[in-house]
Amino acid sequence: MEIKVDKTTCTGCSLCKNFCMYDAIEITGGKAIINDNCIFCGACIDACKFKSIEITGIHEKNFDFSAYSGVMIFIEQHEGTVAEVSYELLSEGRKLADALGSKLYGIMPGYELKEKISGIFNYGIDRLYIADNEIFKHNIDDIYSKILVQAINKYRPDIFLGGATSFGRTLLPKVAAIIKTGLTADCTALSIDPEKKILLQTRPTFGGNVLATIITRNARPQMATVRPHVMAKEPVQNAENRQTDNYLKYSDRIEFLEFDPLNFKTKYKLLSREKELGQSINLSDYDVIVSGGRGIGGPDNFSLIKELADSLGGVVGASRAAVDSNWISYPHQVGQTGKTVNPKVYIACGISGAIQHLAGMQTSDIIIAINRDPDAPIFKIANYGIVGDLFEIIPRLIKKIKNGKGIT
Ligand SMILES: Cc1cc2nc3c(=O)[nH]c(=O)nc-3n(C[C@H](O)[C@H](O)[C@H](O)COP(=O)(O)OP(=O)(O)OC[C@H]3O[C@@H](n4cnc5c(N)ncnc54)[C@H](O)[C@@H]3O)c2cc1C
Ligand code: SF4
Ligand code: SF4
Repeated sequence: MEIKVDKTTCTGCSLCKNFCMYDAIEITGGKAIINDNCIFCGACIDACKFKSIEITGIHEKNFDFSAYSGVMIFIEQHEGTVAEVSYELLSEGRKLADALGSKLYGIMPGYELKEKISGIFNYGIDRLYIADNEIFKHNIDDIYSKILVQAINKYRPDIFLGGATSFGRTLLPKVAAIIKTGLTADCTALSIDPEKKILLQTRPTFGGNVLATIITRNARPQMATVRPHVMAKEPVQNAENRQTDNYLKYSDRIEFLEFDPLNFKTKYKLLSREKELGQSINLSDYDVIVSGGRGIGGPDNFSLIKELADSLGGVVGASRAAVDSNWISYPHQVGQTGKTVNPKVYIACGISGAIQHLAGMQTSDIIIAINRDPDAPIFKIANYGIVGDLFEIIPRLIKKIKNGKGIT
């Protein structure tokens, strides 16, 4: 592969240099010169108005993907309880399948699932593939990857999606590696290119400062993981009036996968299961989240944040700065590398509003910020801002709430 600048048309305007993230372009003698830092990302080609840059030597192949069709969702469950993100993905999957004029499939490995699956049919699923066996009782990626690979090879979905949960983040890359396709992790948006009918997989990159849209050009299925709570959970209206827990009502759309459990060996041995301390906290179960950041000054002051949260029936969240300082455990972290939340009310106390924090909470219905710096970026997205010392403001808020005067 080679990248060339046409010296006869290059005006030295340096637009390409501004777009190159890799310091690969210098303007010398009024012309763009590309150095060895170039990774052939192609950003400069789109930037140049004079069409002066060209990458040559890319061998385009005409792949035949006609055997692949439909959107398949990995339905994640833990001890029979379906993960919320799976419903969100089914909702998104239905839209993608409609845009392609194709079908929506689910694949669900687990144990004793039959009576626990009826809710899945409220999301417009055309066919649910189930692998029900004791070998899937615990979520072990070694075992799960084998059944997913078997299903993908047999049913050949064009698109395969899973949740970017701790389990999904381990499992799906393994599956993608085995079947030799790509995987875009942690997508925040998915859509179908109307002309090429391919999946556009959008995710934040460069610390959340840029949104990259990625395509899978040379392999199928097009695989992506999506973080919980990024996409809406939208049951298909009037799709099902069969309100029942009896799976037989849906038997026309269920297929039990055939496999030999003896082939599903794992190198892991499960000795015991322990719940991580604080892991039981699920921020998304609450309408009100009160988060503390570095501005609260130390671990003990989280008691003040908790008191405010308790007075509103909410839960305590945190910025990464507070988590990294070991003031509070990771399950409380909100943001790009923590939880994505969208409560009715989000109160940020002593949090500056870094882009990575905003990535996890900016879709909250109402954002209230308490910060002593009037120029803190959090105020740019806050519906209500209180400039001042949180140690004065929060006790006053708590007092007012407890006196029944509300937060106003
Ligand atoms: C790849 C990557 C991923 C990241 N992921 C996350 C993530 O998931 N979540 C996340 O939160 N961050 C994340 N970060 C870190 C992020 O960039 C910020 O460093 C972090 O959010 C800062 O936390 P903070 O706002 O608590 O601290 P600071 O930025 O230090 O802000 C503290 C704020 O408290 C205010 N303050 C101080 N004292 C008081 C007081 N007495 N009363 C009122 N206000 C006061 C200050 O004015 C200041 O605005 C990530 C960074 C990177 C590079
Ligand atoms: S953007 Fe195009 S014209 Fe401008 S310096 Fe770069 S290569 Fe030359
Ligand atoms: S292809 Fe990408 S890395 Fe190479 S010079 Fe252009 S923008 Fe920079």
